[in-house]
Amino acid sequence: MSNLKSKLPKVGTTIFTVMSQMAQEHKAINLSQGFPDFPIDDQLPELVNKYMLQGHNQYAPMTGSPQLREQIGKTYNSKYNLNLHPDAEITITAGATEALFVAIQALVHAGEEVIVFDPAYDSYDPAIRLCGGIPIHLNLQFPNFNIDWQQVEDTISEKTRLIIINNPHNPTGSVLSRNDLLQLEALVKKHEQLFVLSDEVYEHITFDGKSHQSVLQFPPLYEKSLAVFSFGKTFHITGWKVGYVIAPEYLSREIRKVHQYVTFSVNTPVQLALAEFLKDEENYQGIDTMYQAKRDLFLKGIQNSRFEAIPASGTYFQLLSYKDISNKTDVEMAEWLTKTHGVASIPISVFSDGEQDNQVLRFCFAKNEETLKKATEILCRI
Ligand code: PMP
Ligand code: GLN
Repeated sequence: MSNLKSKLPKVGTTIFTVMSQMAQEHKAINLSQGFPDFPIDDQLPELVNKYMLQGHNQYAPMTGSPQLREQIGKTYNSKYNLNLHPDAEITITAGATEALFVAIQALVHAGEEVIVFDPAYDSYDPAIRLCGGIPIHLNLQFPNFNIDWQQVEDTISEKTRLIIINNPHNPTGSVLSRNDLLQLEALVKKHEQLFVLSDEVYEHITFDGKSHQSVLQFPPLYEKSLAVFSFGKTFHITGWKVGYVIAPEYLSREIRKVHQYVTFSVNTPVQLALAEFLKDEENYQGIDTMYQAKRDLFLKGIQNSRFEAIPASGTYFQLLSYKDISNKTDVEMAEWLTKTHGVASIPISVFSDGEQDNQVLRFCFAKNEETLKKATEILCRI
């Protein structure tokens, strides 16, 4: 028996690991954990190989390889007409996960509050608790999952340090509008103690003519924001674990103080390869069109099923309601679907503090056509 007092007593293994393992065990089609099953661009491994063979195999600079930070800076400066300074404002991290963790550790003091919106990506809450912060969970209202800005305003106190937004939103696929960002901007202007952590890892994946609204596009909002991105999502390389944070100099300075003791620096040849790959705009254009075709194929596939799609405008996830099929909880339903029918998904109640269960499951459609067809055929038989 150990008398160790856990710092995260309520935390188990993440749902992504649980469901992927269950899928593997039962040989189910894995539409649970979000990762593409199609090949990456051939140039990427060739570039990594090139830089390894050229001898770029030692530590990269702590803040990230200058080539990659400069290329990221150029990309956003031209996309949003900005004047980002890569040395001061861009930091390369081991995936968005590290970026989010480091940002929270750097900003939140013990006893301070952080507003998160449920269902919330699962890494936010434990990262807040680990630094003694207090997560304040506000519910996004089913089925539109919009933010109630009046409720946010009413929740802000002297103790509120951070608001975490995730746009486009995992797991619901909802996308914030320009008006949402303006509301957020008004709040940070009004409340001096308040900062924004903006998780924009699905920035390239919006549908139906909706464009992504980044905190980078709103100068007064950016002044108080940290924006987090992931090459995992943009180039279908979730296993490479490279992300970055863009934040004003005074905030970047603070997050680098933590980053240097969490990972110090990120894989050198991979950073150099990404810097070169990112130079060609064609390598990241059309991601939205590619995913919209997959989303539409998935929706068409389940059209004649008893599942009902909850409309969404972004990410590579689709929520399906099963309320006409069963009154199982979403956790039971996800397990049953995996074990009995061979399709794995993610129950979304686990992303809510109050475990709010709307009887919907999240399906990842970042898959090739054959996988999607097989999965939807099965769903139609249920
Ligand atoms: N934020 C969100 C909303 C995500 O879906 C993910 C997962 N992929 C991450 C952060 C983590 O990204 P990464 O794999 O780059 O660590
Ligand atoms: N972000 C991915 C998802 O939502 C999974 C990331 C992970 O496995 N930690 O499915």
